[in-house]
Amino acid sequence: MDITSTPLTPRALDLARSLVRMNTVSHNSNLELIHFVRDELARLGVKSRLTYNDEKTKANLFATLGEGKPAGVILSGHTDTVPWDGQDWTVDPLGAHVQDGKLYGRGSADMKSFIAIALSHAGAFLESASPFAVHFAFSYDEEVGCFGVRGLIADMREAGVAPLGCIVGEPTSMVPAIAHKGVYRYKCCVRGKEAHSSLTPQSVNAIEMAARLVGKVRDMAEGFERDEPRYEGFDVPFSTASVGQFHGGIADNVVPRDAEFRYEFRDLPTADAARMQQAVVAHARSLEPAMQAVAPGTGFRFETICEIPSFLGSAGDAVTRLAQRLAGEQRTTLVAFGTEAGIFKSSGIPTVVCGPGSIVQAHQPDEFVSLDQLARCEAFMRGLAATRAIG
Ligand SMILES: [Zn+2]
Repeated sequence: MDITSTPLTPRALDLARSLVRMNTVSHNSNLELIHFVRDELARLGVKSRLTYNDEKTKANLFATLGEGKPAGVILSGHTDTVPWDGQDWTVDPLGAHVQDGKLYGRGSADMKSFIAIALSHAGAFLESASPFAVHFAFSYDEEVGCFGVRGLIADMREAGVAPLGCIVGEPTSMVPAIAHKGVYRYKCCVRGKEAHSSLTPQSVNAIEMAARLVGKVRDMAEGFERDEPRYEGFDVPFSTASVGQFHGGIADNVVPRDAEFRYEFRDLPTADAARMQQAVVAHARSLEPAMQAVAPGTGFRFETICEIPSFLGSAGDAVTRLAQRLAGEQRTTLVAFGTEAGIFKSSGIPTVVCGPGSIVQAHQPDEFVSLDQLARCEAFMRGLAATRAIG
């Protein structure tokens, strides 16, 4: 089958435009979108399982198409988007404008189109003679740290669903991706002891103590570059570490009491981010006795911003071969961005990342997905509905 020659159906494009028009920036509720999908599925007689955040303002949706069949492949997507504040758009980010073979809008590439095309094939999955069910797993709060999907997976496990594989539809230009780095972010708050800057021996300088830890992060980054076995295929083939924000101090002549900084590790699938963070914390603890000898109550406090595990699938996995076949692709690739794939994989589900559009357009002003990519994704879904065996 020449998958490039099949035109995009109006229904798929309509659904993609409908989803783009809903404002699901991560700090907003995603319930409009979730209820829309739930209602579309309900019309086909499919029940959805919704799992909520504590405030009940956001939900994940999990649905099985092919009730009674053994569990099959999960089609996974996140419903939230990044914001567009301060970006220079020439079209309305919520306008779902179609021009010159492209659908424009926030989330068009990352990653509402994948969800829309999966949804537009719900009927086909239900009518499929495949011996396996297809599952939809649509999460909230991916963009701010993959917080939603863990509840979805726990709920799915509780329901006794054990899928054979998972396809995460992040934008890879429909080339199956089998690895990405992790993203681990932390905040470090330093409490010192203030004093007039003429009396430094009676003080604990929070900025200077923070700087020692910043230096530790920098030393670690240099260590990764120097010592880590290379993982070819990534733009940067070793783990990275960097400090992204630093705040502290109130005046030139006041030894600062407080400082804080934020830093991140992007660990290779073969590295261990937990050990990296342990090394930072251990260094902080080694500095505290001298601080506390001057002033009790001084020291370091850490907060976790996000911990998105790295992902390492396999070209040999049945779900990877399935994605290759459905996408008409011989290649596999690695991607530079974090996804929910590592979380599905670490819960024991073979996983691959493959979806329409390019990450180059994601998070950008005038984000778009080409209609050609949508047509390829449709062919992929049609192929999945016609699949008799996974692999
Ligand atoms: Zn995404």
